[in-house]
Amino acid sequence: MKLPKFSMGIGDRFGCQGVAQLKAMRLAQAEGIDVTPVWNKSYREHSIIGTQPTDVRRQADAAVAALQWDRPYFVDADHVHLKTIDGFLECSDFFTLDVAEAIEQAAPDDDIEAFCRRNERFIGTLEIPGLDAPFTVTRQDIKRIADKFLFAVKEAGRIYRRILEQRPADAFVTEVSMDETDIPQSPAEMFFILSAIAAEGIPAQTIAPRFSGRFNKGVDYVGDPAQFEAEFRADIAVIAHAVKTFGLPDNLKLSVHSGSDKFSIYPAIRRAMRDFNAGVHLKTAGTTWLEELIGLALADAEGLDLAKAIYAESLAHFDDLCAPYAAVIDIDKTRLPSEQTVADWDGQRFAAALRHDPTCDDYNPDFRQLIHVGYKIAAQMGTRYTDRLTRFAEQIGPHVTDNIYRRHILPVFGAA
Ligand SMILES: [Zn+2]
Repeated sequence: MKLPKFSMGIGDRFGCQGVAQLKAMRLAQAEGIDVTPVWNKSYREHSIIGTQPTDVRRQADAAVAALQWDRPYFVDADHVHLKTIDGFLECSDFFTLDVAEAIEQAAPDDDIEAFCRRNERFIGTLEIPGLDAPFTVTRQDIKRIADKFLFAVKEAGRIYRRILEQRPADAFVTEVSMDETDIPQSPAEMFFILSAIAAEGIPAQTIAPRFSGRFNKGVDYVGDPAQFEAEFRADIAVIAHAVKTFGLPDNLKLSVHSGSDKFSIYPAIRRAMRDFNAGVHLKTAGTTWLEELIGLALADAEGLDLAKAIYAESLAHFDDLCAPYAAVIDIDKTRLPSEQTVADWDGQRFAAALRHDPTCDDYNPDFRQLIHVGYKIAAQMGTRYTDRLTRFAEQIGPHVTDNIYRRHILPVFGAA
């Protein structure tokens, strides 16, 4: 099972927007842009909302049937660990093995020695086509990389083999993710991580490193886009070289996590893909839920009241909601509007604060990030929230489709 060149992870907290999401891929297809949808939902999301992995499979299959989508699509067990994978085994055909927590744990000495021996042929000057300058690799570098990453890659191997106990190797796509950690991996580290992944027998088709800069959920990239671009291009060159050197799958590509709304780096991603003839997996997740709230706030007075109630509750439970996402949000509490302020807003004003339009003066990234993690509040409302999604499906759907198509697919995968 092979992941096509251009793919996009789409998440849907409440599982109601499958068709609206897939419509974005259909619009792209009509423009000659082939983007493969991958429905992803992590264990963390499932446990906060109270859904099961099979719900995502059902939703994806239903959307595919409704739109008669005859292209590939996948269901991603997102950010799974050995402890959490079992519930995903039957219904997923894409597994994101998250080993970020295992970085810097010590691998057994024998493993470290074997890794160092296997890679000592790279000591010296390592020329990689497409890189501006070769790497200089020392014996100490290899040992240091082994100390930092080998245990994590071995852990990915343990999770991978757990899947193999249940599923044939050609029945799923494997991603290795190391993004939810504080320290970015350098392109040189990436090369040796891929060496270890190959030695571990993991046929990774995507790899999600931690890039420099902040990838906060649902808002723009925070960092130097030029530095990101240099690093991203170097990673692509390293991957192409590692595929040949270590015999990894020839469609191996980068996966960009928390990839929604990173408008300031999309041009760099698109340039790099074009120049290297490379693909990318752009993983997005929670912003579909924000489009739901925008649609509700604009739908009618009751919808607006519900959206305001969700914000007020989110504000009241700030710490609880933000804790699981500490590494991937950055909220300035002093910039959050009070409950009273928001109470006076009309639907347009609420939508303008929430919608990620950097040119709009009313857009508030702090407000947006808090609501992004506030889906737990809506989940606790149960049918009071989801009934409304059904009732206003026609008002909400176009926001969901437009967000994916115009703000994400076109700038990243579009031709212009
Ligand atoms: Zn991630």
